[in-house]
Amino acid sequence: MQKIAKNVYAETDFRGCNPGFVVTSDGVVMIDTPQMPTDAVKWRDIIAKHGPVRYLINTEPHGDHFSGNFFFKGTVVAHEGTRQAILASSAVQTKERLKQTSPPDFALMKRFKFRPPTITLTGEMTLYVGDHTFKLISIPGHTPYQIAVFIPEEKVVFTSDNVFCRVQPWLQQAVPFEWLESLKRLETLNAKVLVPGHGDICDPTYLPEMHRIIKAWIDTVADAIKKGWSVEEAQEKVELPVKYPMLPGSEAMEQMIKRMNVARLYEVLRK
Ligand SMILES: [Zn+2]
Repeated sequence: MQKIAKNVYAETDFRGCNPGFVVTSDGVVMIDTPQMPTDAVKWRDIIAKHGPVRYLINTEPHGDHFSGNFFFKGTVVAHEGTRQAILASSAVQTKERLKQTSPPDFALMKRFKFRPPTITLTGEMTLYVGDHTFKLISIPGHTPYQIAVFIPEEKVVFTSDNVFCRVQPWLQQAVPFEWLESLKRLETLNAKVLVPGHGDICDPTYLPEMHRIIKAWIDTVADAIKKGWSVEEAQEKVELPVKYPMLPGSEAMEQMIKRMNVARLYEVLRK
């Protein structure tokens, strides 16, 4: 775990997303939750030393950000699209997968269920907790339902998966042109520290690089369409437009992710 500002902590070494939390004068506000139950329980013990959890904000509709909600108290807040995704998720499937792949995690899942947000937004929202302000800002990109969490008192912004810091991005549900706009929006916040959805903690100087990466993906697939390639040909022939490693633990998925990214962009760009 890293202390990244006076009252803000984040973890970049769990499998799944980078969860974080802010210690306010009136309890803790969490941003995302660890994907693996064993990590969630560790995280819960760490957080308990800082006070009760008041709110738990999920930044996006993917399981690696919200699966751990079950292990925490606090009111869940997220984009309405994230609520719909959580309601549509199957806890039975998740349990079955961990039963096969990770018995210690499965052992913690007896009463496991997904916990959806009870407060949702589609635009912007501000939470005031103790002496802290949490600006929740809809920033479509990695999916249409991303939200950034900006804490002005700490000059920290949690970017969701709209920023993958020096690792390959996943674009399987991307709205790529909105993504470019959202990165510009993040630049206008007066943040000093960025907590990306995945990869190392960074700062706003990484935003132009992330913009370049998304632009490179768009241009590469647009070029394939221009050449008259079918989606299957494009998935086969297109080369990765950016040279970053896969997320640790997902190296074997490189080809699959490339194919998913190409398919999504092909579908969006053909319109
Ligand atoms: Zn995601």
